[in-house]
Amino acid sequence: MPGLEAISSPEIDHGPREHCGVFGIYVPKAAELGGAIASSLMNLQHRGQDAAGIAVNSYEGGIVVTPGEGLVSESFTDRELRGMGEATIGIGHTRYATSDAPGMTTEKWRRAIQPIDKNYGTNVNFALGENGHSDQAQRIATELGFNFNDFASDTDFKAELIAKRAREIDNVEKAVIDVLPMFDDSAFSMTIMTKDELIAVRDPRGFRPLVWGELPNGGYAVASEVAGLSILGIDKHKEVMPGEMLVFDKNGVRSQTLFEPKEPKLCLFEFVYTSRPDNEMYERTVWDARFDMGRELARLYRKLFDEGLIKVDYVSGVPESGVIAAHGFAEEIGRPYRDIFVKNRYVGRSFIQPTAEKQKKGVRDKLNPLPHNIVGQRLAVIDDSRIRGTTSNETVEMLWEAGAKELHLFLTSPQYLYSCYYGMQTGDHTRLSARKNSIEQEALEANVTSLHYLPLENLRTAVGRRVGERVCTACFTGDYPTDVSVKLGPPAHGDSRLSYIRK
Ligand code: SF4
Repeated sequence: MPGLEAISSPEIDHGPREHCGVFGIYVPKAAELGGAIASSLMNLQHRGQDAAGIAVNSYEGGIVVTPGEGLVSESFTDRELRGMGEATIGIGHTRYATSDAPGMTTEKWRRAIQPIDKNYGTNVNFALGENGHSDQAQRIATELGFNFNDFASDTDFKAELIAKRAREIDNVEKAVIDVLPMFDDSAFSMTIMTKDELIAVRDPRGFRPLVWGELPNGGYAVASEVAGLSILGIDKHKEVMPGEMLVFDKNGVRSQTLFEPKEPKLCLFEFVYTSRPDNEMYERTVWDARFDMGRELARLYRKLFDEGLIKVDYVSGVPESGVIAAHGFAEEIGRPYRDIFVKNRYVGRSFIQPTAEKQKKGVRDKLNPLPHNIVGQRLAVIDDSRIRGTTSNETVEMLWEAGAKELHLFLTSPQYLYSCYYGMQTGDHTRLSARKNSIEQEALEANVTSLHYLPLENLRTAVGRRVGERVCTACFTGDYPTDVSVKLGPPAHGDSRLSYIRK
């Protein structure tokens, strides 16, 4: 659909949103790929626990898609994975809850499970999965005469545009090249399979991570994170570069740039919360970045300890993202580290539960306090962020119940003040904790003895200045790298303090 002009839109309803894990594999000789895809998806499970799907080209000329609900381990039995048969290409997807999206029926929710497939004869036969969100999708749909609500998601809409173009020109790869540049202000890391090609594409700013590598016995794999590749024995990976399209087929791998160059804007929150500690982006390991976030916090707030304004017995971290930073904090400040929670490994991440009540229950299902490290102790508790505050407040409540004497909450990110349009579902902006509350009100609402955020510049230092200059910071600053449908001003309370100690 070349020639379509982007227009600005006042629309407020963004519809369904995605924030997911994607995977793709190409092997030169047909093999049972179901098990390998499921293994990689399990290593991307933290990116979405709501639904999963696998597509393979296991019969002549066709693609079979198997959708599932819940965790990967619940979605596919061994028998189902074996039943997917022998294939040369497969893609997989893990998806997180979007059931609070306006107008989302159960039937539509199921249709939104990815990979989404489009079958219109042998040459228009493909499946597609993506991580990201397109704020442009609704107005592009209107501009082209579609009713956006007919689609299960913005991903479904993109897939339909590709299918429509592929029918016109009888070629899926060329249709991808024609259609995706329209979405140049969107966030997507995408895998697409046809019956004989695996395609990987990343938006021009590279909001979401995407890596690829060569399989030890021939062939290639693509995944949202490095752990999706290393489980298959891939020990060297490369990034799919922002704006790049890679095509894997019997001739090897081809690279092409699909978009006009834009400034890279990798999501900074991938380092703070979303990615696994073993992920690596722009050659910076998430574990190292999180450890340094803890050290930066300790360096910045050391004065409060030196002057006796804060006294703690132990430094502790809230699993998972806070624990690594807590070790960095403890090392830097010279206080002992103690675990305060045991994490149930078989329960999903609480932030990505669809309702506040489910989130609260999710926290208690997931974390069990260790009272002998908590009773009567003054604790510096390191966590990643407060978005709506639901998870954080419940965590603090559990520590008081377990007998803590003082709770000083240190966060490895700045205040989360603005909605994300690039795949991080945070709900209505009026529910963002730091947006509606001054820091004093937040400390009261969180019920902590003191509350401290990491300023953006220190966060940039922690992720490494080279990386830190190439990231999106919009949810902290309101400085959106694209035209967005609703641009918010600063919070009405006008409080820019990052640290508060209750009297
Ligand atoms: Fe990431 Fe925030 Fe940018 Fe969204 S707005 S992509 S969460 S840094």
